[in-house]
Amino acid sequence: MEILEIKKPEEKKKRARALLLFSGGLDSILAGKLLEEQDVEILALTFRSQFFGAGEAIRSAGELGWPLVVVDISPEQIEIVENPRYGYGRQLNPCIDCHGQMVRIAGQLLERYQADFVATGEVAGERPKSQNRQALGLVEKLSGIKGLVLRPLSARLLPATIPEERGLVDRNRLLDIFGRSRKKQLELAERYGLKEYPTPAGGCLLTDPGFTVRARQLMKWRGKLWPEDIELIKTGRVFFEPDGLIVVGRDERENEKIAGIAGETDILITTAGAKGPLAAVRLKEASQLAADSRVGVSAGREAGKGEIDKTWSESLPGPGPRTPLEDPSASSGRGAELARIVRRVQDGIIRPEKPCPGSVGAGIVSHEAVRKAGLLVIRYSRRARLKGRASVAVFCGGLVFELEFQKADWEKYL
Ligand code: SF4
Repeated sequence: MEILEIKKPEEKKKRARALLLFSGGLDSILAGKLLEEQDVEILALTFRSQFFGAGEAIRSAGELGWPLVVVDISPEQIEIVENPRYGYGRQLNPCIDCHGQMVRIAGQLLERYQADFVATGEVAGERPKSQNRQALGLVEKLSGIKGLVLRPLSARLLPATIPEERGLVDRNRLLDIFGRSRKKQLELAERYGLKEYPTPAGGCLLTDPGFTVRARQLMKWRGKLWPEDIELIKTGRVFFEPDGLIVVGRDERENEKIAGIAGETDILITTAGAKGPLAAVRLKEASQLAADSRVGVSAGREAGKGEIDKTWSESLPGPGPRTPLEDPSASSGRGAELARIVRRVQDGIIRPEKPCPGSVGAGIVSHEAVRKAGLLVIRYSRRARLKGRASVAVFCGGLVFELEFQKADWEKYL
């Protein structure tokens, strides 16, 4: 769990401090405002993961002048997505477990940040599955800090919490909002002079139907969710072959993203001498071997076999360190350099070589998933198939190989 203090909280000065779960949306802003009115210090706490970012919360906390802490929960959230105790919402969103975990982490941070309780912007009955009264109780149970979770917007409809009983917060000045109508929240926004705020619950990929389909296919294909695979399926057109995962860029921006995400064992394919998509092929076995060797399971296996000559890859800088706020899918220094080389191949400046029969290169270009990816690249590039034949460039092991197709090969894909 990585923690980043965007604006470090000062020493506690007032008699109470709330650690506010903060999305940057209207409900969490209002929850904080209601507590501020009661002279409670606000320390905003937000989360980020591979499925959602912290941008709105950072922007919003900055405007409000609240100190903010960002916690990266990517590994924890993946575990929950794979095995949710309380199931999914409409898509692959395990909101009850996820929210319970966020509150639990907040509870673990109370002492570190001299906070007296956790506050959230939850509204009873606002979301049928994750914010009905029973779900709010489950979240508190999962969090392990019973009695310390205050929901200022609906507090008067819920059992009294410890901060209310201790007199840190006056229950009578909290609210009793229930249901999906936003009327009361909008009135409050006007009262506090709030003009711009993001829509609630926006931005989590797990609530996206398209991403859900891909992620479900991925779990079936790999047997589990790997962070590297998740990054790959966020981009482009995605195809699952029995032994390979193929992603094809839809435009220049996605091509660059794919170049940035591609791992060292991934095979990249693009049009040779013509503008077109960039595809990445992740072979199941090769990526599994690489992962095993990373954790030392297969130390000494034939790592690097086939790296005959690092004609283009040698010059690539390393991926470099990631910060918790960095978009993991953004093109790194290495990815940007790789994208430049891809463009040179498309411009015909670098020419792919025909692999020698029986060589490693010949084995790679004849691999079923690689051939399928080559055909997909041709399918999505009109310029590549102007004649009766088309060739693609296959980047692997530091070399660029040519893979040629005839019209009859790709016609069935059109
Ligand atoms: S929408 Fe996403 S981030 Fe929010 S609680 Fe649900 S799963 Fe978690």
